[in-house]
Amino acid sequence: MEKHPHIIFCLNKELDKDMIKEFLEYPKKAGMDFAAEILEIHPKLKEYYGLKPKEQKALISDYSDLYYLEHSGDLEKAKKSFQKKWDKVENIFFIETDKVFNNLSWPEGKYRGFISIITAGPRFLETKEFQSFYGWERNIIGQVVHEMLHFQFYNQLSFIKEAKTIDKEERWQLSEIFNDIIQAEPDFVKVQGYTPKVPYPEHRDLVEKYKKIWARTQNVNEFIIKSINIK
Ligand SMILES: [Zn+2]
Repeated sequence: MEKHPHIIFCLNKELDKDMIKEFLEYPKKAGMDFAAEILEIHPKLKEYYGLKPKEQKALISDYSDLYYLEHSGDLEKAKKSFQKKWDKVENIFFIETDKVFNNLSWPEGKYRGFISIITAGPRFLETKEFQSFYGWERNIIGQVVHEMLHFQFYNQLSFIKEAKTIDKEERWQLSEIFNDIIQAEPDFVKVQGYTPKVPYPEHRDLVEKYKKIWARTQNVNEFIIKSINIK
């Protein structure tokens, strides 16, 4: 693999159907309600909650097929536009991120961004893939930066033996908080063009606490070890 992975944006309707089902079924995370957002954009899917499992699947499938058909122009446009935007900033992103991670090699993976009709934006750590809502024209760079930082943060975690003492949920929370801190640093704000807001309401107070650890360490390795030790 090249020194740095290159993200390719593509469409993946079947994955979208699976994710719609997943988030309608398990909507809540750290103060966010993904189902509420889905239903705001796709009110027809409210019918989901009154149906039997087989009908639920058919509803999502038929609805998505039609939506993809009717919005095919917008979806294609997002794919091209997101690609162009990311290609423009990827070099500077890798320069800044390699600094933060002390030139840690990037993990192997497919590095694909799937255009999506929902705003959940899940990532798939094993394959290094993620979904991006097609309406995120203005904040796509912030999201890609966010997912890429997750990939590299989890990669770094895998080399730290202390990290084995915390569970999956704690690892995720630490990774989110790390992103909140790094994405607000001036070098990253420059890449993104803006400062993203802290997405998970339950993390807002924690970010302030961990910011102090980052200010003291300025090094991901030490940041992780110190953060685990204060738990
Ligand atoms: Zn995240």
